[in-house]
Amino acid sequence: MFIEVTGLKKGYTTGEVRTEVLKGVDLQLEKGEIGVILGPSGSGKSTLVNIIGGVDRSDGGSVMVDGTTVTSLKDVELTEYRRENIGFVFQFYNLVPNLTVGENIEVCANISTAPLDVDQVLASVGLLDKKDRFPRELSGGEQQRVSIARAIVKNPKLLLCDEPTGAVDFETSRSILALLQRINTDFGTTILMITHNTAISGMANTVFRLRSGAVVERVRNKETLPAERIEW
Ligand code: ADP
Ligand code: MG
Repeated sequence: MFIEVTGLKKGYTTGEVRTEVLKGVDLQLEKGEIGVILGPSGSGKSTLVNIIGGVDRSDGGSVMVDGTTVTSLKDVELTEYRRENIGFVFQFYNLVPNLTVGENIEVCANISTAPLDVDQVLASVGLLDKKDRFPRELSGGEQQRVSIARAIVKNPKLLLCDEPTGAVDFETSRSILALLQRINTDFGTTILMITHNTAISGMANTVFRLRSGAVVERVRNKETLPAERIEW
């Protein structure tokens, strides 16, 4: 199993109030697959993905990714794990505004030991002609494609997407999803994606439904997921 999350727990203390966000999450994904996490706002989706990606720590349980027990890594090892293995795509792109498109991608290529070619990656997201533009000169959908290029230029084993179509219109979101699907096919990248967009679940190998900090439903293959059951 490429991703194996077992009994994962995480809570936050704010003042006197303790909130348990993840209450024993189990999730599995095979190498090369696309997994989708559905769930209402506040159900712990980002927390879960951040722990898998090594940007946050759990309170209990374990995460294994490609044979590495992420939850046992020391801080310096966790940074290394994240840098070498994980690509992140966020809702609001998070591009560096004063760097060009090409420079935004180069910065990430330079922190990897085995990066892909910047021009090749830009071509694969259809934006080679925008290489010398600045993020503000691009549409939202184009900026998101740049952020996908930036995530994959490291040639990560795992691409984590936190609501990648949350800030774009319906048509653009379809093209972003098609692009992610093509990246999965062309580069063999395993993808774990959070979304509210129910159209996405059709491209997933497994859909995980998170509610109140636990996976309450796990569905393999689109055929078994009736459309009315994936609305929130
Ligand atoms: P989702 O992505 O499903 O909307 P999150 O994982 O972002 O959910 O958050 C789950 C819950 O944890 C929310 O109630 C949120 O307010 C809380 N939370 C997230 N991060 C923190 C934090 N750093 N400190 C305190 N509470 C947090
Ligand atoms: Mg979130």
